[in-house]
Order: sequence, then C-alpha cells, then structure tokens
Amino acid sequence: RPRKMALSAEAERIAAEFEFNDSNVNRAVLEFVAEMNEGLEKNATYMSQIPTYVTGVPNGTEKGLYLAVDLGGTNFRVCSINLHGDTTFSITQSKVAIPRELMVANTAQELFSFLAKQIELFLKEHHNDHFEASIKRRQTISSPEGYRDENFFRLGFTFSFPVHQVGINKGNLIRWTKGFGIADAVGQDVCGMLQKEIDNLKLPVKVAALVNDTVGTLMARSYTSPGKTSTLLGAIFGTGTNGAYVEKLSKITKDMEGEFDSSTGLMVVNTEWGSFDNGLKVLPNTKYDEILDKDSINPGIQMFEKRVSGMFLGEILRTVLVEMLKNSSISLFRDDTSANNDYHSTTEIKRDAAIYKQWGVDSSILSVAEADNSSGLKTLRQFIEKDLGVLAASLEDAQAVKTIAHAIAVRAARLAGVALAGVVLQTGRLDKPGSEPGPKSAAAIAQDVKSGKLAEAASATANKLADTAGLAVNEDEIVDIGVDGSLVEFYPGFEDYMREAIRATEGIGATGERKIRIGIAKDGSGVGAALIALVAAQME
Ligand code: ADP
Repeated sequence: RPRKMALSAEAERIAAEFEFNDSNVNRAVLEFVAEMNEGLEKNATYMSQIPTYVTGVPNGTEKGLYLAVDLGGTNFRVCSINLHGDTTFSITQSKVAIPRELMVANTAQELFSFLAKQIELFLKEHHNDHFEASIKRRQTISSPEGYRDENFFRLGFTFSFPVHQVGINKGNLIRWTKGFGIADAVGQDVCGMLQKEIDNLKLPVKVAALVNDTVGTLMARSYTSPGKTSTLLGAIFGTGTNGAYVEKLSKITKDMEGEFDSSTGLMVVNTEWGSFDNGLKVLPNTKYDEILDKDSINPGIQMFEKRVSGMFLGEILRTVLVEMLKNSSISLFRDDTSANNDYHSTTEIKRDAAIYKQWGVDSSILSVAEADNSSGLKTLRQFIEKDLGVLAASLEDAQAVKTIAHAIAVRAARLAGVALAGVVLQTGRLDKPGSEPGPKSAAAIAQDVKSGKLAEAASATANKLADTAGLAVNEDEIVDIGVDGSLVEFYPGFEDYMREAIRATEGIGATGERKIRIGIAKDGSGVGAALIALVAAQME
C-alpha cells in the first residue's frame, strides 16, 4: 500500500519542520535573557517587564481573612479567602454575570457601583458579623481612614484589562477589551473608581492591591508550595502565556513612577513574555506559523504566544491539515474503504466543518491525540469527527494527525522551557544557592526591619542574610516554579518536554534541572489576589 506509506512519510516530514533542537533552545534562552534585561532597562521593548510594585512573596505562614474580586470578562467574581498560616486556605465565593448594558454604560460609575453592590451583598451573606461590627464602629469615626479595625477587609482586585500600573493599588485603564467600552473610564485609576463606590456604600473594605493574574499565580504558589521555599516564577500556559518572577530591584533600572517599599530589595516583574522575540530572531517560523500570523488580528505581535499557548496550538494544527488537504498528492482524509478503492475521493468534509473555520479547532484535540495510544486510535478518530468535522477518518489519517499534533505540542513545551530556563538563568538562583538572599529570606528580613529588629545596626543585615541562608540551605537549593493553565495541566507530558529543554540549557544542565520544582498553582485571582492584598498591607 504505497500511498499509505506516503501519508505517514508526509506527516513525519511536516512534523520535522516543528523540531526545535537543543542548539535552537540555547540560542533562544540567550535571546530571552537579553530581552528580559532590555525590558528592565527601558520601555518599549518586546518583553515589557512591567514592575508590579509587589516587593515580596509569601512563605505559607501568612494568616488572615482577605477579599478578592475578579473582573475580566463576562463574570464578576467576589471571594473571601481565609489564610490559615500553614500553606492552606479556605475560600468562599460568588459569581455574577455582568449585565451587558453595564459593559457599555455611559459612565464608569454605573459599572463600579454595581461591582461595589456585589461586594456588599457578598459581605452581608457571608461575613455579616464583620459587616455589622464595622458599620457600627464607623458611625463613630468620621475619617474614612479611621475604620481600620479588625473587621476591616483588604481586597485584591484582579482586573484583566490593559492598565498602566503606577503603584501596588493604583493603575490607569489604557483601553477596554473583550466587549467592554465605557469612554470616561479610560485613563482613570481603576482601584480609585472601585474604592469610591465602596466608600459610597460605607463598606469596611480597602482596595489594597491591583492584581495581574500571572502575579497572582506566583503568589498562590509561593504560599501553597511545600516547605518554606519561596517561589521564583509564576507561569501561565492557558489561553495565553505569561510569567511573573521575583527580580532584584537593582536590576530594574528603567523609571518607576510609583511609590513602593524598597527594603526587600526585590520586586515582582510581569514579563509579558508572550511578546518575546516579536522580531523572530530565534523563534521557529514554519509556513504554518506564517499563515496563522498573517490571518490573525495582530500580525507580528505576541509571536511567542502564537507558538506556545492554548489559543493557537489547535489553529496551527488546523492550518497544517488544511494545507495537506490542498495538496492532492497527499492522501489525508481520502476514502480508501469504498468498494472501488477510489483513493482520490475525499472523506466527506462539509464546507462548514470546523477544519475549515479559522479558530475552529480547540487545542484540547492535541491532548486527546497524545493520550490515545490504542492500536485503533478510536478516541482520536471520534474527536476528529467531533472537533474537526471530518467523518470516517481512517486509522492512517488519525496516525498522521497524531504525529503532527505531537510535533506542535512538543515544540510549544520546549519553547515554554526556554522561558523557564531564561528566568532561572537571569535570576542566578541555581548558581549560588544560599550566597545571596532568595525572595523568602529577603521578605523575612523586611519583616524584621519593619518590626525594628534590624533597625539598630546595618551590619546586622549581613549577618541575618548569612543566617537565613544557612538555616535553609537545602531548601535554598530548590527553585520553585508555579504553573497554571489547561495546556500545562492537561497535555500529557508537557512538563517533561519543558524539562528536556531546561536540561539542554547550558548553565542549567541535568544537575540544575533536578533542583527545579514545578507545581500547579491554582486560583491566582482568588488566593493569589488575597496574598497580594496582604503583602500590600504589610508595606502600608
Ligand atoms: P484561561 O487561560 O483562559 O484562564 P485555561 O487555562 O483553561 O483558561 O486555558 C484555556 C485554553 O486551554 C484554551 O485555549 C483551550 O483550547 C486550551 N485547552 C483546554 N483544555 C485543554 C487540553 N486538555 N489540552 C490542551 N489545551 C487545552
């Protein structure tokens, strides 16, 4: 059956175009580190490296009750998080759909007063004791700053629209996306707008932090990670991809206009690595990547994300399959079971099948293809019918899809590994374990400084550094990374392929790679936001 050979050979040939070998990885890591530093030095670079004004990460001992709200799309989520101080927490939450008319209201006040109202309803339902006590107390205090008692809630505000952040709880809306459009909000401080409406309702709530979801992931992982190790990096591989990591303050040399507490010597930086190498110096660029980019709404932008994240991997696969179908010498999806064995008649694919629709194919089919190791690939063939709209795909068709999907996903995971390796190298966390303050020890020192323990003698700081490092030398060897997103969570072996690239990186190698601990960090916009509110409160 020579033509079947041809299909598998063709699939292998295309798969090879997606190879991203060890030397490619190393070139890319070098460029990644270079672009990280460029972003720390100046604005308007590929990787924005946005300072978040978050100057410490939690270690799992943090305690208290915090609020978090999340405005990012169709729903508004309100939750309270009780941090137990032993790396565990409990969470209570409510979710409400945002009325369409408020998304395009005439004034921002209409939207934000609705949000404040939801916070009030949540407090009355779930924390009425705090609510009543605080209201009673507030009647005797005139200044809004005066009601900071134990019943007062600090709130982390996850706001997933482009903002220009100028402080830990201050950021001006750059533009609306995702169907929102309220002209008078643009340029305004979103935390201020929410606080104003909260104050109008006299709620015992302070908007303490403006939260980016990637930073939330980092914080959530740092709190929940085993042991006392603080987390270096939070990374998202979901619809999009981005990472936030703990950087030395001294390396952020570009202007920072906001105020912050510099005593930790650290700051969390939001890399915006989805735009890594928009200039395509080191990223792979197959003809399928080119087609996808050209047909996207933002050609030339988010080039790393377009090769790595869930929003695009299904589309890359679809693009490959469509190109294969255009080539009549390739026997993909051709019916070879009909009586006359007419292999030029294609398997029935309707014009409006998902395979012919831009963005019509979800990345989850890559996971299905990888997971199906049965001899008949029955599950994958069902998904080819359901997700691609291709009826009666043959085993050979499914094998070809599996080969190509594997190649696309492995490339994505190896590129994801480039980002992780880049951050690990940039921060030097593997080179000199214990010889310089990790985020955890520095945060602890900051606390000591605050409590006055180190205030007397500057030289004590150096001793403290050595002590802290010495105490936790084994812990310090571990570099902890928190990840979130369906791709890393559900694609079989995604972490292993990331690790292969990390191991291949000069300066990390197998020894370094073993010290890297990767764990899922769920719920950055809940517990992560609460933790940022807590860190913000410590800096007040
Ligand atoms: P978000 O990033 O929007 O918060 P997710 O982390 O769930 O949400 O990511 C959604 C993205 O992940 C979508 O692009 C979807 O195609 C992709 N995805 C969902 N499930 C899987 C899966 N099992 N394997 C690979 N990709 C998946």
